Parts: sequence; structure tokens; C-alpha cells
Amino acid sequence: MPPPPSTPQRSAMLEIAGIAVSGGSGVGRAVLYEETPDVRAAAALPPADVEAEVTRLHAAAERAAADLGSLHESLAASRDAIAQIFFAHRAMLTDFLPQLETAIREGSSAEHAVQTVIHMAAAKIAKVRDPILSQRAKDIIDIGRRLNRALTGTTAAGLPEERTDGPIVVVARDLTPSEAVQLRGRNVAAIALEQGGHTGHAAVIIKSLEIPCVMGARGLLEAASPGQMVWVNGSAGAVVIEPDASAMERAVELGLRYERLEASLLRESDLPAETVDGHRATLLANIEYPLDVEAGMARGAEGVGLYRTEFLYEVDGELPCEEDHLAAYRETLRHLDGGRLTIRTFDFGADKESPLAPQEPEPNPALGVRSLRWCFEHPEPFKLQLRAIQRVATEGDVRVMFPMVASLEEVRRARAMLAETAAELAAEGIEHEPNLPVGIMIEIPAAATTADLLAREVDFFSIGTNDLIQYDLAVDRMNPRLEPLFRPSHPSLLRLLQRTIDAAAEAGIPVTMCGEMGGQAIYAVLLLGMGLREFSVTPGYIPRVRRLVRGLTLLEARRIAGDCLRLSTAEEVEELLRARVTPIGAG
Ligand code: PEP
Ligand code: MG
Repeated sequence: MPPPPSTPQRSAMLEIAGIAVSGGSGVGRAVLYEETPDVRAAAALPPADVEAEVTRLHAAAERAAADLGSLHESLAASRDAIAQIFFAHRAMLTDFLPQLETAIREGSSAEHAVQTVIHMAAAKIAKVRDPILSQRAKDIIDIGRRLNRALTGTTAAGLPEERTDGPIVVVARDLTPSEAVQLRGRNVAAIALEQGGHTGHAAVIIKSLEIPCVMGARGLLEAASPGQMVWVNGSAGAVVIEPDASAMERAVELGLRYERLEASLLRESDLPAETVDGHRATLLANIEYPLDVEAGMARGAEGVGLYRTEFLYEVDGELPCEEDHLAAYRETLRHLDGGRLTIRTFDFGADKESPLAPQEPEPNPALGVRSLRWCFEHPEPFKLQLRAIQRVATEGDVRVMFPMVASLEEVRRARAMLAETAAELAAEGIEHEPNLPVGIMIEIPAAATTADLLAREVDFFSIGTNDLIQYDLAVDRMNPRLEPLFRPSHPSLLRLLQRTIDAAAEAGIPVTMCGEMGGQAIYAVLLLGMGLREFSVTPGYIPRVRRLVRGLTLLEARRIAGDCLRLSTAEEVEELLRARVTPIGAG
């Protein structure tokens, strides 16, 4: 971390809490970044010559696509994951053209068409409850702005001038992916945003640029003024305006500690996740997009334990066809060096809405027609997905995984559909793998308590604690007010987990955990002691889980787990883990 400029001479220190998006600690003078104002086209003034207006639209789209092409090219060599975001922007831009053209033919100017079509698409997706999908609104806005600039011949507002007196902290309401990528190579010590979320593409870019960042810091823009000293603690999710001398000291110390820790963790990426007494664990990555796979591989993941596939449905427009599925799965497999790819079938509903997977309004979506239930009600898109999975399975270690299973009947029904699609592919003479491994997620208490019955008819289990906790403890995973009640340490949950792990062992099938719990340092040790050997976690957590596994014997882990399982409350379990698991990390 570059040395911070001299200590400020102003008023009281103010701390604002936000979301920890990109780890580390950075200090600098605040530079307030105003977002590029949207072009406000006059009302739908009908163009005098509709054909000329359509031509103008296409010419502007070509210029915008060329810009995106150069951006993609300039990033491809060093930062392929980021480059892919702009590659996707170019594809989305093309997808919007027919709708834009229709709007012009119905009497809009090109600018007005962009304003209505693209902004409406963004507004629609922003309302979706799924935090990943709703963040895509920012990508759509980014594309709209780029197209508008191409139409009007204007340039982006550009980034704030760098200060000559040391590093800067960029303070803004939000950043689009294009704005975020411009921050590379500049003297940016940290980023603090009033809005945003860790699932957006701007967050992906900022993490990849390794700039400490906090998002969702409410009240930030009102509190910060240009030139003020700001400390961003990206690991703890705090923005401190005008830090005092002792906070400054802490900022520097934490920054150095974080950098040392990250560097040492990354150096271990090639080492096996093996306990001191030689018991191996398998570390896998959870991914949302094909491009996430690179982050997992860079940290030594042995494959993908959870490939969420809802991203295929996130852009308003055409439904993905079988070839679109196949292309995305193939692209992901290509990065895996022979590692496994566990593709989870659609999990639409409740927290994962998509404009392309419409649902009837329901009184309680979390208990409604979601996931596999939705797939049974919509056999066409489901079968199309199954066909693509069976096709890509001829090219590597591909497994299929069904979410939200509550009963054996559902397993049988899903398997029967797999048999049906295999028969169709055979009849059509299309190469496919009819016998790929079939697994289920254990994320409903009913599945955990009947794990012994389910284990006889599937090839693997993957425990989804994000939902298992929600349903076991009756705590809505999306309700921030209930966060203190969302506790992996609850004795009921531990019993469900133990039962599932034991049932899998008894049946001789592997069991992975792909819920967030597996990536939380203290719980990874507990789970290891309970018999779990496969952890599928967000790529960034892989190095920490590896270090924990390598730091103890299985015997120690078993003792810790045994003691935890004898306790009566979540609090007692957490206390014991805090006392007995050596912490890793720099907050
Ligand atoms: C889970 O429920 O734990 C899980 C991994 O799936 P998702 O978070 O996608 O529901
Ligand atoms: Mg789930």
C-alpha cells in the first residue's frame, strides 16, 4: 500500500458502515466522482426520415461495438475475466438493436429509443429480488450510455483529476463497469460507494484490480467533501472520514497485514488441502458466470462444485437456446484443466427471479413453485438445459445437480426426464453422455432427514446451507433484519448436517458443501471434523480454507466437532469455535 499523505487537520472522525467488497485497507484524499449524466432526449419527436434515423442508430451501435471491442482486446491478455464482461456488453448491445429499431419505426428518435428501451430494461431488472440479477441493471445502463455517447458524439465525463499530493480515494454514488475499469493504473488507494453491491460487475472488476473497496455506505456522499482524508477498510466494510492519528496508524498496519497475508495465501495455491496428519480435502469453486472460473483456478480449485446457471436468463430478450447453454458450459469446462464441472439446473424462484422465467404471483415464493418445481412446470426449458448438459458431458468431467429436492419422487421424476432427453438425443444421432453422475442439493430439512433414502438413488450430495438454514430455522435469507438469527451454529442445523454427512458415508457417495457456511473459516474446521471432505466455496475463500485444513490434524478437528455437537445453543458453539480455531485474516 502506498504511504498515506500527511494527517488531516480537520474535524471529528466519522465512520460509515457498508459492504466489504474488496479486501485490504487504503487511505487517500477524497475525490468525488459524478456519474456521467444520462442524455435526456426530447420527447418522442418523430424523426423526419425514419430510415435515416435507423441508419444513424446502426452507425452509432457500430462505433460503440468497436469501442467495446478495443476495450476487450486491451484487457484480454492480462485480465481475461474483465475482458469477458465487455465482450458480453457487446453481445447485449447487439441484442437490443431490434427493439431499438422498432421504437424508431414507431416514431422515436434514436436517443429517445435508447432512453426508453434500454432504461426500461434496466429498471425492470433492477427490481428483481435476486441480488445478482438486479445488479445487471448497471451493465444495461452502461451500454445505454455508451450508445448515447456514440449517437451524440460526446465523450464520457472521465475520471477525476488525480491529485498531486498522493493517493486518492474515489467516492461516488455508484460505478458502472466501464467507469470501474478506468480506475486501473491510476493512483487510486481505495473506492467507497454509496450504492452498489458485491455481486455487480463493477465489484468483479474492482476485486480483480485489487483495490480495497466498500459499497453500500449510506450517507457517504453527504458526509464526504473533496480533499478530505478517507480510510477505506475493504476487509471490514467501513469507510472512515477524517481518520484521527490512531485510526491512520491502524489503517496502515491493516493494509500491510492484508497484503502480506494475501501474498502468502496465494503462494500456497499449489499445495494440497491436506491436514497435518495427511487427510486430504477437495477444494472447489462456486461460480455464477463462466468468467468466475478463472478466479477459482488461480487459487488452486480442483474444479467447480456449484455452477449456478440462472445467468443464462438474465438479459431481457431472447430465451437462450440449447446452443447458448452448450457454448457457456463448454467455455467454462475449457478453463478447468480436466477438473470437474458440477452444473446445477435452474433454481428460479424466491431469491432468483428472471424476467425470462416468469412466475405467477405467489403468497410465499420461498415455499412456492421454485427450482425443481418450476422446472417440472416448465419441461421445455428444463429439458433443453438437460440436453446441453448431457452433450457437454462427453467433453469432460461434467455432473448434473438438482436443487431444492424434498423427496425421492422428485429425484425419480428428474432422473426420468434425463432418461427422456438422452433417448431423444440418441434418436437424433447427437453425441451425448447418458450416464453422467447425478447429484442433488440437500437444502430442505426433509432431504437432510431422509438423506439415507435419497443416497441410494443419487451419485452425490451437495449441502446448500444458504437455504437449509433458511428452511430449518424459518429465517428468510433475504431479510437483513433477521441476519442475527441466520446462524450456521444452531444445534438443529449441526444435527441435520451430521445426519447428511453420515448418510452419504454409509451409502459410499461423496458429499460436498456449497453453501456459504463452508467458506467461513471457523465452520470449515467444524465441518472437516464432522466428516466433510469437499468444500465448494466462493473463489476468494479457497486460500483461507486451504490454510485452515493444513494447519491442524484431523484428530483435532474431530475433537472440536464432537465438542460442538454436545453443546445446546448457537452461542456456545460460536464461543467454542472462536476459542479453539486459530483465526486467519486481517480485518
Ligand atoms: C444454498 O442454498 O446454500 C446454495 C448454495 O444455493 P443458492 O445460494 O444458489 O440458493
Ligand atoms: Mg439454494
